[in-house]
Amino acid sequence: MSLKSKFIGALIGSAIGDALGAPLEGNSMEEVNFGGDWKMISGRYTDDTEMMIGVAESLIENRGFNGADMAVKFIQNYHARRGYGPGSKEALRRIRGGESWEDASGKLFGGKGSYGNGAAMRIAPVGIFYYDNADKLREIAYKSSHVTHSHELGKEGAALQAFSIALAVQGTEKEAMLHDLKEFVKNVIYKEKLRKIEALLAEEADKKAIVFELGNGQEAFNSVPTAIYSFLRFDSFKDAVVYAISLGGDTDTIGAMTGAISGAYYGEGAIPVEWVERLEEGKKGRSYIKWLGEELYRVKFFND
Ligand SMILES: [Mg+2]
Repeated sequence: MSLKSKFIGALIGSAIGDALGAPLEGNSMEEVNFGGDWKMISGRYTDDTEMMIGVAESLIENRGFNGADMAVKFIQNYHARRGYGPGSKEALRRIRGGESWEDASGKLFGGKGSYGNGAAMRIAPVGIFYYDNADKLREIAYKSSHVTHSHELGKEGAALQAFSIALAVQGTEKEAMLHDLKEFVKNVIYKEKLRKIEALLAEEADKKAIVFELGNGQEAFNSVPTAIYSFLRFDSFKDAVVYAISLGGDTDTIGAMTGAISGAYYGEGAIPVEWVERLEEGKKGRSYIKWLGEELYRVKFFND
């Protein structure tokens, strides 16, 4: 499979997971499991994709990371109706008010910064662009998180999600992937979650156990591992993303993160066409998102 297809797959996959999960956000696992067929209801994406677009645009225009510009992209793309989290909203409000991107996010939550999944949910462009350099990937994942999410757990969640996408681009065997992720991650909370993923995969655990052990919430450590698990457990884009959303909770973000890893692994062609066609079009819709994937590929390999 071509690398270009994986680059596009990661971005489109992320947007698809977001749009598919969006109507169910905040419902419990029991409420989400209605037993019906999984259809894309509106095809509208949320803040996850809107911010992912900003990350991609900024990496392309700057041929790499530029924090001040990335913050500007987030502010320019912002539409309140996309449902932004409180951390991102407040950080962007401060930056718009004149604070630097280095300082703004650190003032949130009593000076601790946010450990929500708002940085991990948008990280797909970083995961593909730096897929072949783990140190650089970690550095840029942390920095791009810092624009809105400065807590160590928020940054580490974004780096872990980015590295999962990178391994998927590389086509790493799933068994080896868990090992590589354990080597990569530095924080003990995430190390423990990765150990749990391994145990839960071995026993084919039920959904209740997954939600209990890995989480389905808005904290990065209660959603990034859940997305990784959903990807590892199944053999197709569709099965992984449907499963991730069926766990309830922060469905759009867990769907987006599972979709990003799965799209990077299986490529654009493995994403169900009926979902892609339902994904919203327009100025920054599915064609534009696909183009961003192509551009990231072009800038990385041809740099013209
Ligand atoms: Mg969202």
